[in-house]
Amino acid sequence: MIIRARTVVPMHGAPIENGAVAVSGDRIIDVGRFDDIKTRNAGNTVDLGEKVLLPGLINAHCHLDYTCLRRKIPPQESFADWIRAINAAKAELSANDYVASIKEGFEEAKRFGTTSIANLTAFPELISQVQPPIRTWWFAELIDIRVPERANELVDAAIESIGRTRPQLARRGEGAPWGLAPHTLFTASSNIFRRCEEIAQREQILLTTHLAESREEMQMFRKASGPLYAFIKSIGRPMDNCGSKTPLENFLHLIGSSGSPNRLKTIEVNRPYPFWIVAHLNELTESDFDLLERSKPKFQIVHCPRSHTYFGHRPFAFERLRSLGFNVCLGTDSLASNQTLSLFDEMRHFQKNFPNISPNEILRLATVNPARALRYENALGQIRPGFRADLIAVPSSGSTDIFEQIIACDAPVSWSMVNGQEYRDW
Ligand SMILES: [Zn+2]
Repeated sequence: MIIRARTVVPMHGAPIENGAVAVSGDRIIDVGRFDDIKTRNAGNTVDLGEKVLLPGLINAHCHLDYTCLRRKIPPQESFADWIRAINAAKAELSANDYVASIKEGFEEAKRFGTTSIANLTAFPELISQVQPPIRTWWFAELIDIRVPERANELVDAAIESIGRTRPQLARRGEGAPWGLAPHTLFTASSNIFRRCEEIAQREQILLTTHLAESREEMQMFRKASGPLYAFIKSIGRPMDNCGSKTPLENFLHLIGSSGSPNRLKTIEVNRPYPFWIVAHLNELTESDFDLLERSKPKFQIVHCPRSHTYFGHRPFAFERLRSLGFNVCLGTDSLASNQTLSLFDEMRHFQKNFPNISPNEILRLATVNPARALRYENALGQIRPGFRADLIAVPSSGSTDIFEQIIACDAPVSWSMVNGQEYRDW
């Protein structure tokens, strides 16, 4: 099949006017000017007309479990209050509600041009009830704050649940599209983090967590005080790692890459696993930046622009983290702290906060960079021969910078392709 559009944006090299992409099965086999593609490839032509054709977007962090909580939780006084509010809302939901919520979330993400998603679920046992319409990395979210003695059991049960869906996923050929998500440093024990690292090495899966998200998290770990400290202590968590180190110091100590003599020696710089994708990283001290500069290997960072604004976090240190060599990508987080699952909305919000970053680079935060974070940099996020046929088309206005036009897209995409499968007219 040949797909022609007014402009093709491959994300490497310049945009191609009157461009086309040839697709065979689930792969892109050629990309270039329409005339050349027609000459080099056989097959039917789908002419998308006045559209911009680009790689499908990749959401590097979300929780589709909570799609049904859109606009249900207004911003709270404190982060601890938000956790209380979401816990109260969750107490009203049944397993069926969650399944419906996850399905609704997938449809919305797909409607707005997302073709790959890293989805954390607190209910890995429900995964088998959902057939994702887009490429999905399931991450089992692990919390043992109320049951620390069950850490290993929780991890094993999560793997068992995800494992049931793996034969189907493994046929797709690339790395394992699943992982484990110790929830945060304050809700998952060090046992969970360590066990997840062991399993990640053995199974070659990804790991993700929330880190240094709020001022209260910083206050809790550094000063042993504040609303989050009081709330978490009241649940019965041992608080002995609070009162000195920052969240980042605690994390690096735990995963053994901060220079601590015990575990660091066993970690080689280029060893691919454990491979951490860290969400947020909003609260960093100067000494944290020193640590980040020395940190090898560099973990992956996900920034969630609108969730960030919802919580009123301090400005995200995008330029500084990027200059330290970190790969930064975008996520939507859940609709308990955001209003849509559109990465276009996310890119526009990011652009408002970072007007000096070029639209081209902003689009990379939702294509090339998350492909790298998911270890699919050779298969997703660009239009290249051999890459997966995950493509979307957005309207072309022809008046401004092409990347600006893409970021401006605020309607459902009218055409997309996931793994070579075409979808039209939502
Ligand atoms: Zn999250």
